[in-house]
Amino acid sequence: MTERNWAGTVTYRARALREPTSWDELADLVATEPRLRVLGSRHSFNELADTEGVLVSLAKLADEPATVAGSTVRVPAGIRYGDLVPALTEAGVALANLASLPHIAVAGAVATGTHGSGDAIGSLATQVSALDLLTPSGPVRLTRGDADFAGAVVALGALGVVTHVELDVEPHYEVSQTVFEGVTWDAALADLDALTGAGDSVSLFCSWDDPARVDQVWVKSRAGRPAPDLASFGGQPADGPRHPVTGMDPAPCTPQGGVPGPWYDRWPHFSLDHTPSVGEEIQSEYLLPRADAPAALEALQGLAELFSPLLHVGELRTVAPDDLWLSPAYGTPTIGLHFTWRAVPDSVGAVLPAIEAALPDTARPHWGKVSTLAPDAVRARFPRWHDFAALRARLDPERRFVNPHLARLGL
Ligand SMILES: Cc1cc2nc3c(=O)[nH]c(=O)nc-3n(C[C@H](O)[C@H](O)[C@H](O)COP(=O)(O)OP(=O)(O)OC[C@H]3O[C@@H](n4cnc5c(N)ncnc54)[C@H](O)[C@@H]3O)c2cc1C
Repeated sequence: MTERNWAGTVTYRARALREPTSWDELADLVATEPRLRVLGSRHSFNELADTEGVLVSLAKLADEPATVAGSTVRVPAGIRYGDLVPALTEAGVALANLASLPHIAVAGAVATGTHGSGDAIGSLATQVSALDLLTPSGPVRLTRGDADFAGAVVALGALGVVTHVELDVEPHYEVSQTVFEGVTWDAALADLDALTGAGDSVSLFCSWDDPARVDQVWVKSRAGRPAPDLASFGGQPADGPRHPVTGMDPAPCTPQGGVPGPWYDRWPHFSLDHTPSVGEEIQSEYLLPRADAPAALEALQGLAELFSPLLHVGELRTVAPDDLWLSPAYGTPTIGLHFTWRAVPDSVGAVLPAIEAALPDTARPHWGKVSTLAPDAVRARFPRWHDFAALRARLDPERRFVNPHLARLGL
């Protein structure tokens, strides 16, 4: 089998890929395969999704219609966010946020704590109000408020197959986004809270080749909010559309220039019908308490000469706290420090330990991206790790959904 992840940087070692066409066929796989993992849209950059056994894709079960009822939409787990939009639009409803791209599967994004940006906006997992799981111990339905719910949402695919997810929805709304240039780190750090609060969702893009300069600040705001003004940070609106990687063609990006449009065409940086980001890349991200942001950014500035030659671009975003056990935003207002690396795995693997050593020891790695942090350091940074391990052992006592990546982490 020569199946790879989206970026082509991970070749799965699984002995087979199965794509069931009925829920019964899926249940049969869960009942009989000694080792299996579910594959989403393959956008993770590490071996999290892999298995020595059978990989199961839900892609052929993803065209079941999404059903909107009140303030909830029920969706098949393998559907991509972008493919959910027509049903939501027809029902006149919207999600509270999206990640940088609409190409990812709902269950895959939720399983890793994938997030967009926003001081008051939680990760995509916080939109989940209920989920249906097919575990080796049988089917389980969990609803927000149930004892195991907070452990089962960001679950790394370790509890079984998520077959359906229910997400909070709200009435349709519009968003506008403006890209600013000219902001310096000195101005940004002098009042980072004011900068990340300049819109509902703010991203700072930085290539770190000039440690004094933030390349671009993307500000996205819901309709009705005053237009952002970054003049006090030295920021001026860009004179045309921009790609986050300076100099790249902006055609794949969602509309900018402060023009209002539907939520799904502004929250993500990239449009569904284009290749997002760069394509040939590796990603890493560390999420840490906002209070630790100044120390973390100072540490990165000190290492910028070492890592900036390997970088396409870096991105800083904020995430609201939540109570999901394995969420990188668990319990604290969070800042994500993201790196889009060139596709040079050996060189990236060589600089990550220096970055990880320099960051505060509160920095939690993104579950779907590349990190070299030691397993005991990872476990120590997720205070509910042991509760999650106990939940996993209860639902999957034979460790059928545990793969080498999770075993290395101690599950
Ligand atoms: C170009 C690009 C941009 C990105 N932008 C962002 C971003 O803005 N913010 C961010 O936080 N991350 C971002 N990511 C990372 C990405 O969102 C995560 O890696 C996410 O997990 C991808 O979802 P997926 O469906 O592709 O998951 P996969 O990589 O296929 O799988 C991830 C995990 O989910 C599990 N899983 C998938 N489906 C199920 C299921 N039905 N039941 C149980 N477990 C399941 C898998 O077993 C695996 O453990 C980006 C990645 C790329 C390539």
